[in-house]
Amino acid sequence: MGKTYIFGHKNPDTDSIMSSLVMANLEKKLGNSEAISCRTGKVNKESEYVLKYAGVEAPMLIENLEAGSEVIIVDTANEKELPDNINELKIKKIVDHHYVALHTSYPLYYRAEPVGCTSTIMYKLYKENNVEIDKTIATLMLSAIISDTLLFKSPTCTVEDKNAVIELAKIADLDYEKYGLDMLKAGTDISSFTIQEILNLDAKETSLKEVKTIINQVNTAYIPDVMKMQTDLEEGMKKIIEEKGLDLFVLLITDIVNSNSQVIALGKNADLVEKSYGVKLENNTALLKGVVSRKKQVIPIMTENA
Ligand code: MG
Ligand code: MG
Ligand code: MG
Repeated sequence: MGKTYIFGHKNPDTDSIMSSLVMANLEKKLGNSEAISCRTGKVNKESEYVLKYAGVEAPMLIENLEAGSEVIIVDTANEKELPDNINELKIKKIVDHHYVALHTSYPLYYRAEPVGCTSTIMYKLYKENNVEIDKTIATLMLSAIISDTLLFKSPTCTVEDKNAVIELAKIADLDYEKYGLDMLKAGTDISSFTIQEILNLDAKETSLKEVKTIINQVNTAYIPDVMKMQTDLEEGMKKIIEEKGLDLFVLLITDIVNSNSQVIALGKNADLVEKSYGVKLENNTALLKGVVSRKKQVIPIMTENA
C-alpha cells in the first residue's frame, strides 16, 4: 500500500486539523501503515491550543501533491476548498458533515452525516471498528466537536455531538465546559494577525446562486474589540473583492459568549444581507441576533434570497 494523505479544507479549522489526525490514527489501526495526517494551510490559534494541550504535533503541511496520489478527505466535500489538482488525485474516502459539491468518475467510500462535526462521525467510526479511543484521541475529537458546535450553542449541534463530547471527556479526563471555553477563547486571539490574515482565517468562497461570495467568520469574546478595526477591515475586503471579482464579501464577527454575529457586508450585492435577515446595514454593518452558524444560518438563507 502506498502513502495516503489525509486532510481537510483550506484555511483549516480545528475540525479539519483534528479529524485528519484522528482519521490517520484510525487508518493505521486498521492496517494502513502509511496514512499521513496533513493540512493544506496554517494551523489557527484554537487548534494550536488543542495540539499543545494534547502534546500532539501539527499535521504535515502539503502544498502540491503529485497527480495520482491517494487521499482521504475530512470535513469538506467541496472542490473549491480542496487542492487545485483535486481531479488528478485519487480520493479513497470522504468523511464529512457538509453539503456535497464534488463528484468523481470512480467509486469511493463516502460517509456523510448531518451532525455538527466530522469528529462526531469519527467517534462512531472508531466504535464501529472496535478501535480503542485513547486519552489523546479523545481530547482531539472533543476539541473538534466543541469548536464546530461552539460548545453546543450552534444550531448545527445534535444530540450525537453532545453525547460524544460527554463520553470523550470521561476518557480525556477533563472538564469539557471549562476546557472548551478556554479553547474557544484561545481561538479568538487575533492580536498577532495582519488585516489580510484576519480576512483569510476562516474564509469560504461560495456561490449563492449567481452571486460570487466570500463569507468569512471571525470568533470573538467581545464584538467591539474587532469592530474597532472596521475601517481597515473594509479596506482589505474591498481589495479582495476587486482581486477576485466578487459580488459580495460577508464578514461575520461572531460573539461566542452571547451567540450573535455582527456582520460587515461589502460588494454590489450587499443588500442580500438586508433582504435575508430583515436588517438595515448602517455604515455597512448590522447585528444578526442569534446567528452563529455559517453553514446553517447563513449559506442556505442567503442562497434562498439570492
Ligand atoms: Mg471545517
Ligand atoms: Mg467541521
Ligand atoms: Mg467552522
